[in-house]
Amino acid sequence: MHNDYLLLIILQKMSDMWWLKISCPVCPASQRGEPTYWPHSGCSKTYSDDNDVKIDIDGNLFCNGCHLKDPLINWRFRCGKHDFEKLSNLANLLEVLQVMINMSKNISDQKKYATMVANISIMFSNNA
Ligand SMILES: [Zn+2]
Ligand SMILES: [Zn+2]
Repeated sequence: MHNDYLLLIILQKMSDMWWLKISCPVCPASQRGEPTYWPHSGCSKTYSDDNDVKIDIDGNLFCNGCHLKDPLINWRFRCGKHDFEKLSNLANLLEVLQVMINMSKNISDQKKYATMVANISIMFSNNA
């Protein structure tokens, strides 16, 4: 395969990635605050807005600072109500993602988000 072609594929893959701007995905609906960006707490890079986390179409979270990439199911979330908890409730997660998805006016993104949600659901069922 020609290198330029490979680069193009990688760039396209990279573009299927969005800033994760959600309410806490661990908290139940009654305790949820406004959606916010999520910094990578254990980041090896000095903190700035640049090490907020993105989500890709496969349901991986990606730190923009240190480039750590791991399936969402392996990450732990911290908010004012709890300390670094793993995601245990798929319905909670899908609700907060749905809010993020609804904020996108981009039709192409909407279609890709649907794939992301399907991939996350599979991730959870494989982990059950
Ligand atoms: Zn929480
Ligand atoms: Zn990081």
